[in-house]
Amino acid sequence: MSVEQHGFKAEVEQLLQLMIHSVYSNREVFLRELLSNAADALDKARFLSLTDGELLPAGHDEPGIRLTVDADTRTVVLEDDGVGMSREEAVANLGTIAHSGTKAFLQAAKDGEKSDLPGLIGQFGVGFYAVFMVADEVVVESMSAQPGAGGVRWSSQGAGSYEVGPYAAEHRGTRITITLREDAAEFADDGAIRRIVKEHSNYLGWPILLGEDRINRGKALWAESPSEVSDEEANEFYRMLSFDFEEPLVRVHLRVDTPLQYSAMLFVPRSRPYDLFMPQADRGPRLYAKRVLIEEHASELLPDWLRFLKGVVDSEDIQLNVSREMVQKTPVVRTIRDALVKRVLKELGRLAGGDEEAQAKYTTFWRAFGMLLKEGYYHDSSRFGDRLLPLLRFGHTGGDADALVSLEAYKEAMPEGQDAIWYITAPSRSAALASPHLEGFRGKGWDVLVLTDPVDEWLVQTLTEFEGVELKSVARGEIALDDDETSEAKEAIQGLAPWMAGVLADAVEGVRTSARLTDSPAVLVDDESAISSNMERILKQANQDVPEAKRWLEINPKHPLIQGLSSLQKAGQEEDAKAVVSLVYDGARLADGSAEDLPGIAKRITQMLTKSVSAGSAGSEA
Ligand code: ADP
Ligand code: MG
Repeated sequence: MSVEQHGFKAEVEQLLQLMIHSVYSNREVFLRELLSNAADALDKARFLSLTDGELLPAGHDEPGIRLTVDADTRTVVLEDDGVGMSREEAVANLGTIAHSGTKAFLQAAKDGEKSDLPGLIGQFGVGFYAVFMVADEVVVESMSAQPGAGGVRWSSQGAGSYEVGPYAAEHRGTRITITLREDAAEFADDGAIRRIVKEHSNYLGWPILLGEDRINRGKALWAESPSEVSDEEANEFYRMLSFDFEEPLVRVHLRVDTPLQYSAMLFVPRSRPYDLFMPQADRGPRLYAKRVLIEEHASELLPDWLRFLKGVVDSEDIQLNVSREMVQKTPVVRTIRDALVKRVLKELGRLAGGDEEAQAKYTTFWRAFGMLLKEGYYHDSSRFGDRLLPLLRFGHTGGDADALVSLEAYKEAMPEGQDAIWYITAPSRSAALASPHLEGFRGKGWDVLVLTDPVDEWLVQTLTEFEGVELKSVARGEIALDDDETSEAKEAIQGLAPWMAGVLADAVEGVRTSARLTDSPAVLVDDESAISSNMERILKQANQDVPEAKRWLEINPKHPLIQGLSSLQKAGQEEDAKAVVSLVYDGARLADGSAEDLPGIAKRITQMLTKSVSAGSAGSEA
């Protein structure tokens, strides 16, 4: 077949421009990317030879990755015994961006500061094109393991286009020859290569050879006894696995022999990965069966709410030749999954209930991933609720902005007379603290949990009590905070609420007096059975249809405005009283952000002010 020239796809071109023209401090990660591709190709070959049968033979008895460097010609050569590529595969795989990390990298590079790029390169797996940070020219010679598929020679200088032509070899695998740029000559050096491999690829599951020497450790760290794995080794393994440049926050390593045989090493990252809330992102640990990689992302091995975990699971009890659909259905997976969840929650519980240092670690965890545990409680409370409850943390009015409290601590601190765990849901802490709903609680000195994650609205639907104490919203239903003074005040304005309910019949479910307030004249309250106004807001933001829920207007019998209104109504000045009622209702809607007809409200305020000003001037004339 002939040699052809092809142009790169537009986004590859963009990425290549970044690679070629920016100055990166850690260009050495190019080697990590190429080695990881070689290891993937070796994994695939091993998998295929166990399941599909006939493959072209590898070039070496012990399959692995071989590196050669030549300082004189400034070349680095990588050879692997993996699956290789056919011509079509080379065009498809090396000419377009398939890898989601690469796309995300491009986006982050566009959004971010130029100076952040070196960090980003380390964080995202940027893939094959990273080689153009150091290369003048790259030649990929590859022979597919599928008999008859043929070989390919792919070459490019990075700018604009690449060439593909035929290539013939006796054995499968890929050789990549890199001619280094003058300013990257340092990488054509044995010592440099050893150092980089040790730093980034030490735990790759295949031998990496430099000449006769094996330069990586290359064993399955997870299969070793947990007590024999050092933090350094584990962290290095994590870095290779996750491309995260921070150390992991928590590590869970387990080896189980009965009733099933498996080992797992899972990590909690220190901060939120960029794709945590992208629905299409890859989830789940790597799944091996007897050291053979079955799935890069085995999402069925952990519930979605533990999607922040990175790691590896290796089982002796999963058959190599089962399809992914089958893997999902086997009871083995279900058993391993439950065991992993329990172990991870146990480890988090150990931190949450540990000494000061452990608790600080837990707080870091909670700030990054707490909302996912709430998601977990919502979805899986029947199975893991008991283990999740002690892990939940909340902001609260009793603490400063950063303070978190557990349900247990809240409950223990409850003063006598308080019989519920009170919470407020709001878009932010400041919105919550400004809410009139808290006035009565402040007056009593009762603590209120401040729930500001969208997921909280779902959480409180499932989490309705804790150790026999009900969880209640301060914005919902009737609240008995009455004292003698309030009762007298209520007495004095008797009849006002029912009359107001008539005036506002179209707008509210009803009107009642309450002790919820100390400073404000009135507040809107969610009906006991209706959806909360915060939930309504969240659903509207997500463009969902929201059922219109009418709310209660509660009036404050101790407020002079309400007392004055009562006198007007009793004196039979109905028109004036109705105008005041409208404004009281407007004020309550303005206070909680639910007012929509702002021009109408402005008009009513103007009318009322005009009237009071002219009444004032009429008075002074007399
Ligand atoms: P990713 O590894 O995330 O898929 P890369 O940009 O690193 O993205 O690689 C792109 C693709 O090129 C790989 O998915 C693979 O199909 C192919 N490829 C790269 N290197 C090799 C290799 N050494 N052997 C076989 N295929 C390879
Ligand atoms: Mg890759």
